[in-house]
Amino acid sequence: MVELDKAKRILGYKKKYNEKIRFGSKRQAVLERDGFKCISCGMTESEHKRRWGKSLPVDHIDGHGRYHKVKNNSMNNLQTLCIPCHMRKDARLNGTCILQPADIPKIRKIRGKTHQEISDMFGVHRSTITCVLNNKTWGYIK
Ligand SMILES: [Zn+2]
Repeated sequence: MVELDKAKRILGYKKKYNEKIRFGSKRQAVLERDGFKCISCGMTESEHKRRWGKSLPVDHIDGHGRYHKVKNNSMNNLQTLCIPCHMRKDARLNGTCILQPADIPKIRKIRGKTHQEISDMFGVHRSTITCVLNNKTWGYIK
C-alpha cells in the first residue's frame, strides 16, 4: 500500500511537471480566465469530463503546442478549447483543406504512405492523422 501511494505521488508530480513545461504553468489560469468553458462552443468542464473522460484541453492559438520545441506560453496565445473544437481548428491550421468526417474512412483506407505524407495530402498536422488512425482523441468523428 505504501508503494502504491508512493507511485501515485510520483505520477502526480510528473503530471504537474509536464503541464508546467507545456503551458508554462498557466493552464489553470487560462481555464479560470475562460470560465472553465470552451471559448468556441461553451462546453463546460463538467460536461467535457462526462463526454470525453478528461478535463478541457488548453490550446496554443498559434498551433505550436505539444509537438513543437519552442512554445509561446503567453496568456494571449492560450485558449480553452473542447476536443471537437480543437480538432476543427487543427484541421484548418495548415492549409485550405478542412478535414471532414467523410475524410476519416478515406484516411483509414490509405496504404503504403507515412502519416506525414497523409497529413500533407489533407493539410492537417501529422498528429491528427496519427490520432485518426489510432482511433484516439478524434474518435468522435469516426
Ligand atoms: Zn467547443
